[in-house]
Amino acid sequence: MRAGLRIGVVAVLIGLGGSVVTGPGVMAASDPAQTTTASGHKWAVVLHGGAGVIERKSMSAETDAAYRAALKQSIQAAADVLEKGGSSMDAVEAAIKLMEDNPLFNAGKGAVFTADGKNELDSAVMDGVTMKAGAVAGVTRTRHPISLARAVMEKSPHVMLIDTGADQFAASVGLEQVDPSYFFTERRWQSLIRQLKKEGAPLPQRPAGAPPAPAGGMAEIEPTDAHKYGTVGVVALDRNGNIAAGTSTGGTQAKRWGRVGDSPIIGAGTYASNESCAVSATGAGEYFIRLTVARTICSLVQYKGMKLQAAVDEVVQKDLKAIHGDGGVIAIAPDGELAWSFNTPGMYRAKVVEGGAVQVGIYGDEK
Ligand code: ASP
Repeated sequence: MRAGLRIGVVAVLIGLGGSVVTGPGVMAASDPAQTTTASGHKWAVVLHGGAGVIERKSMSAETDAAYRAALKQSIQAAADVLEKGGSSMDAVEAAIKLMEDNPLFNAGKGAVFTADGKNELDSAVMDGVTMKAGAVAGVTRTRHPISLARAVMEKSPHVMLIDTGADQFAASVGLEQVDPSYFFTERRWQSLIRQLKKEGAPLPQRPAGAPPAPAGGMAEIEPTDAHKYGTVGVVALDRNGNIAAGTSTGGTQAKRWGRVGDSPIIGAGTYASNESCAVSATGAGEYFIRLTVARTICSLVQYKGMKLQAAVDEVVQKDLKAIHGDGGVIAIAPDGELAWSFNTPGMYRAKVVEGGAVQVGIYGDEK
């Protein structure tokens, strides 16, 4: 049954552990967190900003605060769309565009570099109502890869475009094109150089168009490379009961040979169907591809009747761990259940349900 066609009142209660309990019922009108809309669906949204070895001990108070503010601002952008009655797809795109513009995240401006010293961007979206999807990989000139993924879905007969062809398509549909140096950040560049030196690999030339190297060298703001993560993803449920997912990333630092991870692979890093759930993943993409993580989670919900939180835990804490795949996911179901799970020390994340407060987390010991 399509969630958008469901009639009735669905109440959503956020459990103490961050998981959500859903069920039919009439809720006390005095509690704003429990009001329902005319269509019977309360909007909800979850996002991540990457998972990895993200620990308190390697994070300054300023950096911690900057990430929390960015996560809050981004989820607020999605919430604003949903509150006005906008679609889950519009909410996903709005939040991801902000994160693509924020150099803190490994997406758009601030993406990690390839071993050749380039930024190659991957992104995907999927619409749970239509099960249409769009994806791009190896993009170097389109400012917002998430909008390009959406354009592939809506304005081309295809699902996935790569490399210069993807950028050409972006230009042809009027999406903003930038010089590749737009994506450059000193922080990511220094992080690449550190990694390549450690590997004893050749160092690429500083990219054309990049600002000159800082005279006194750069302050070591991330000595442990704790912030080389930062893939972004959003899943949302709108008042019509429709869900959508989107993911955007620069991939893994020092990637070579046109490597593409899970983020733009439908069913691996990104998936949405109103019949089951919407998922966006982050982590070591090769493992997520092998397990088709996003689709597997939704299949557990759809065919085994598992609750969403149980399904994400099954895949992230058991299946992925079994093959040493590090990372995490966020997920949402059409009935309003929200979930996240990660097997790394931290995952940048946030969630909010209509009428409720925004909840932001970074480390594993936060709810
Ligand atoms: N999953 C992304 C990739 O493998 C990277 C990440 O999420 O950190 O490309």
